[in-house]
Amino acid sequence: MLIGIDDTDSPEGMCTTYLGAVLARRLIREHMRVREARLLRLNPNVTYKTRGNAAIALDVGGNADRAFEIACTTVEELADFSCANTNPGVVVVEHRPDPSFYWRAVRDFCEIDDAVKILDAAGARYHGYKNRRGLIGATAAVASELPDPTFELLAYRKPNLWGSMRTVDKKSLFAAQDATFPHTWDTVDKKNDVVVCVPHTPDPVLFGIRGESPSWVMLARSMIQSEKPAIEQIWITNQGTDAHLLDGTIGTLKEGLSYRVRGVAASAPGTGVGGHVSFFFRDGDHTVRCMAYEPTKGFRNIVRMLVEGDEVIAVGSYKKGSVNLEKVKVISLSNAITTRPPVCSACNKRMTSDGKNKGFKCRTCGAHTRTPEVHEVPRYLELGWYEVPPTARRHLAKPLCRGERKS
Ligand code: ATP
Repeated sequence: MLIGIDDTDSPEGMCTTYLGAVLARRLIREHMRVREARLLRLNPNVTYKTRGNAAIALDVGGNADRAFEIACTTVEELADFSCANTNPGVVVVEHRPDPSFYWRAVRDFCEIDDAVKILDAAGARYHGYKNRRGLIGATAAVASELPDPTFELLAYRKPNLWGSMRTVDKKSLFAAQDATFPHTWDTVDKKNDVVVCVPHTPDPVLFGIRGESPSWVMLARSMIQSEKPAIEQIWITNQGTDAHLLDGTIGTLKEGLSYRVRGVAASAPGTGVGGHVSFFFRDGDHTVRCMAYEPTKGFRNIVRMLVEGDEVIAVGSYKKGSVNLEKVKVISLSNAITTRPPVCSACNKRMTSDGKNKGFKCRTCGAHTRTPEVHEVPRYLELGWYEVPPTARRHLAKPLCRGERKS
C-alpha cells in the first residue's frame, strides 16, 4: 500500500517529513515492511504552504486498515491542529493512482474535490481533517512518479530541543560538502559563506543533506558533527529535478506556474529599490519582465551583464507579471555598440551634437555630419547556464552541478 500525508505543520512547529519518519518507525514496530519513504515538493507558488510545500508517501507492506489507523493516530497526535492553516490529509491506497494528478500538483493548482474524486475511484481509505486541503498533497504524493530521483537524509532533533538554537559544527558541514560535491549539493553556500542545510525555523529538522544516492548523502552525513539527532531518515525525492517547469512562451504564461521561456533581452537590466535587478524580455510582439531578487546575490551581476538583443532562456515562476529567475541560459550575445560625436575631418576637433536627431556640428569650422563614431562594446559574458546561489535555490530547482539540459 501507499500512505500519503500532507499539511501537518505550522510556522510554530512540526514538519510533515518528521511525522512521516515517526510513522515509518511505528509501522515497522507493528511488523510492517516500509519499502520506501518518498518526499515530494509540490507547486512552490501555492499560497497555503507553510514552508516548502512538501508532502510524503510511504510504500508499506502490511494490513491496510491497521496502517490507516496508525497513520491517523500519528497525525492526530503530532500535527499542529492549533494553526488555522493546518489541514491534514491522510490517504491509503493499494494501487498507485494515475500520476497525472501528481504532475498537476507540482506544476499547477488543484482542487480538493479533484483529489477526493481520485481517492473515491481508487477505493482509498482517506481522512481529510478540518477543511481537508491536505488531501491534495497526500493524493499527489501517493500518485507520484520519480523519473529522476534524488535523495535527502534528514536528521531530526530530540523533542525537548525543538525551538532552541541548533548545534551543528559549521566547519564539518563545509568539509562534508568539499568531500562529496557534486554528488551532494546545497549543504553550504561556499561563495556566500552560508550554511544552507540547517533551518532556522522551530521545526524538528536538525539538518538535511541532499545528493544523488543514499550512499553519497550517508557519506556526507558521516562527516557532520552536531547535537545527537533523535532519528534520521533517508527520503527519495523530486528535489533538485526541475519537475515544476513547463516549456512556455511569452504571452501565454499563467500566474503561479513555473517555466523555461526563450526570448531576447528587450532592455538593458536596471537595479531597483532593494537591489532587485530586472529587464524586459521579448518574443515577437510579447514582452515580460524578468526579475533577479536581492537574495540571489551574485547571480544579479550576471543578469546585469545582459544587453538588449541577447538571446536567453529564462527559467522561473511567473508571478504578478514577472518571471522570477532561478537560472538563465545565455544562448547568443548581440553586438553591443556605443556611439559618440565624430572627429571633424577638416580641423581634427571632436564635433558636438547639433540637437536631438539633428546630427553633429563642428564648433570650429561649422562642418556638419549625421554619422556618429561607432564603438563595439567588449562583452565578457560567456554563453551557457547561470544559476542562483544555493542560499536562494528553491527545493525543486535542479542545480547545474547535476548536469545541464540539452536545450
Ligand atoms: P508541511 O511540512 O506541512 O507539508 P508545507 O510548507 O509543505 O508544510 P503545507 O502545510 O503542506 O505546506 O501546505 C500546503 C497545502 O497546499 C497543503 O494543504 C497541500 O495539500 C496544498 N497543495 C499543495 N500543492 C497544491 C496545488 N498544486 N494546488 C492546490 N493545493 C496544493
